[in-house]
Amino acid sequence: MVMGDRVEEVDVVVVGGGPGGYSAAFRCADLGLETLIVDAGARLGGACLYEGCIPSKALLHAAHLIGEAERAREIGLDFGAPRISLDPLRKWKADRVVGKLARGLASVARGKKVEVVGGRAVFEGSRELRVEGDAPQKIRFGHAVVAVGSAPRALPGVELGERVMDSTAALDLPDVPERLLVVGGGYIGLELGQVYAALGSRVTLVELTDGLLPGVDRDLVQPLARRVERQFAAVHLATRVLALREEGGSVEATLEGQAPERFDRVLVAVGRRPLTADLGLETTRVRLDARGLIEIDAQCRTADPRILAVGDATGEPMLAHRAMRQGKVAAEALAGRPAAFDNVAVPAVVFTDPEIAWCGLDESAARAAGREVNVARFAWAASGRAATLGRADGLTKLVAEAATGRVLGVGLVGPGAGELAAEAALAVENALTVEDVALTIHAHPTLSEGLMEAAESLLD
Ligand code: NAD
Repeated sequence: MVMGDRVEEVDVVVVGGGPGGYSAAFRCADLGLETLIVDAGARLGGACLYEGCIPSKALLHAAHLIGEAERAREIGLDFGAPRISLDPLRKWKADRVVGKLARGLASVARGKKVEVVGGRAVFEGSRELRVEGDAPQKIRFGHAVVAVGSAPRALPGVELGERVMDSTAALDLPDVPERLLVVGGGYIGLELGQVYAALGSRVTLVELTDGLLPGVDRDLVQPLARRVERQFAAVHLATRVLALREEGGSVEATLEGQAPERFDRVLVAVGRRPLTADLGLETTRVRLDARGLIEIDAQCRTADPRILAVGDATGEPMLAHRAMRQGKVAAEALAGRPAAFDNVAVPAVVFTDPEIAWCGLDESAARAAGREVNVARFAWAASGRAATLGRADGLTKLVAEAATGRVLGVGLVGPGAGELAAEAALAVENALTVEDVALTIHAHPTLSEGLMEAAESLLD
């Protein structure tokens, strides 16, 4: 077919089939708008399903089992050393986890009559885009939702190669390198560093700033930092990578202030960048900021009245659940409903061991903003449930407005912190007070009691 032969007309075209894109498309379809998704991989799920959240959590589950088996020795249960077979582990991750969820999404799309077109979308103005790929076509749209997501950022001066991997390559689990260098002590570096350490790699981590997870409350990071110190061969903070040279079967790494060292593989995880280049957005009125992020308002509308945008391409926090909520807001705005992305709490979870989760305002941000707050800490050493799990290293932290007792933020560290973040988000989003939380009966013995205890400690 000659490019441009086929022109399809739809109410809404969504560019990108990740969590932001499919959430927008599904909601548009529910609201009676004829909707089509263009996705470069001709599939739904995006980076989250294929090279992010889901495969990493599958591998972290495996790492968790190994860690639990190790800890079990302390209570008289010795399962012996783990025998790890990568093929079944990869197959489980690909088929039973990722594949199953992918089939589920495809079937929801069919049920809602949302067509998925494979190819790269390039805008040709505010009413039309072309799809490049095996079956080129043009699509005329009433509105478009850009949900193109993000990709791993490169380390300046360093090219990826056979042994210098980004998170996508690392999640494929090419092997278990004897010596792994992780560049970046953020979400991905820590999560995948712990996966590889559990599988048997000697992990060295190098982080540019003077602490792991920069920007996250230090009280929450400390228990993780202590664990990582024991689990990894070395952690270099405030250290720059001067050179990475791949030769023979290994990589020579030169870290600032260290003698060159050889590693079998390197994982680069130094942040993500929006995929907004080469999209033809210059033919529209969409405005990008200096980092290439699409500027949007509370309804996810761009400066072009016919184009909305959601997800990582619109900035931080680059989290799937933010994108999903934005997708629904964008769809409702298109259908003329009074929707806005006005959420106060966007929970964040780092799925490490121990897990870290938070939402709302943290203590230092509250103080920096000059807000009068009360802060409560509940150490899990006093939790019955934590004791039965053999884990006393957790902490629940609550930040409340001094004058009203309103819960402004919650921070959690400890096993299962990610699940506990749901209650925290509910409290912050709905402006509950410490009294509301303290007077709500929390099941005993559970880790959720920590939030109740923290709230109780702030009552008169
Ligand atoms: P990140 O921003 O979390 O961490 C990047 C880290 O690399 C930072 O600590 C930064 O200081 C460091 N860094 C930057 N340049 C460096 C350099 N030259 N040398 C050494 N360190 C350097 O980014 P990420 O870990 O790549 O993850 C990207 C994004 O993906 C996250 O911000 C998050 O939004 C998302 N993500 C979320 C989850 C989750 O929700 N659990 C998991 C993985 C990724």
